[in-house]
Amino acid sequence: MNKRKTIPQQNKVRSILQQEINSCCPFCENNDVGHFEIHHIDENPSNNDINNLILLCPICHSKITKGDIPQSEVRKKKLKIYSSTPEKKPTQIFYINSNRAPSIMGNNNKVTIKNVKSTKAKKSKYPEGCIGYENLKANYVSYLITRYHECKEYEVGKAQMNYAMFSSHLKKQFKIGKTRTIYNVPVERFDELAAYIQSRILKTKLGNILNSRNQKIFSSFQEYKKDQSGNYT
Ligand SMILES: [Zn+2]
Repeated sequence: MNKRKTIPQQNKVRSILQQEINSCCPFCENNDVGHFEIHHIDENPSNNDINNLILLCPICHSKITKGDIPQSEVRKKKLKIYSSTPEKKPTQIFYINSNRAPSIMGNNNKVTIKNVKSTKAKKSKYPEGCIGYENLKANYVSYLITRYHECKEYEVGKAQMNYAMFSSHLKKQFKIGKTRTIYNVPVERFDELAAYIQSRILKTKLGNILNSRNQKIFSSFQEYKKDQSGNYT
């Protein structure tokens, strides 16, 4: 029998995600919501930030897993969901001074869950020695990528965003094969990867403006680690 950790926030997270989609699969309008599954948009099973989670029917979930629905499509869908719930409209500047991991929905910053059914098969995807194997480092990379996308979104507008582009750029930059993800980068290169994404954030227009005003755009890994530790006690 599998030993399962209790997930203190899972029901809460699930109910937020269910409300978000109005109890209806965002891809096919199936409404058998009791059987819906939580999907990790960036494919990092330990990134349980609410922005990275979407609730959907098992059929569409398997289409994503197989690659029939590309990740860029899922991101677009998630943003569409946000923009259609006006009271939770994304605010890019809102948390710019915050030390916390940012969240598009500002009031759900701290929601984390540790174990959902759909992550099991994916855990083995990242062997020891990869960034993906170390939750905290993987989450920090994912956090920086999110920050980059948020800054870039501010610059080009949501409609023009290509979320897959930056990931594939990073993969090329770090010589990671097409069938793998940025979390396959060896853990020895973590500092280098983090520094590279940080430099790219600072090069965005928003990043540049905020930096010139000495405003905080992202947490350092040390700060991030400290902040996250509050979640796991
Ligand atoms: Zn569906």
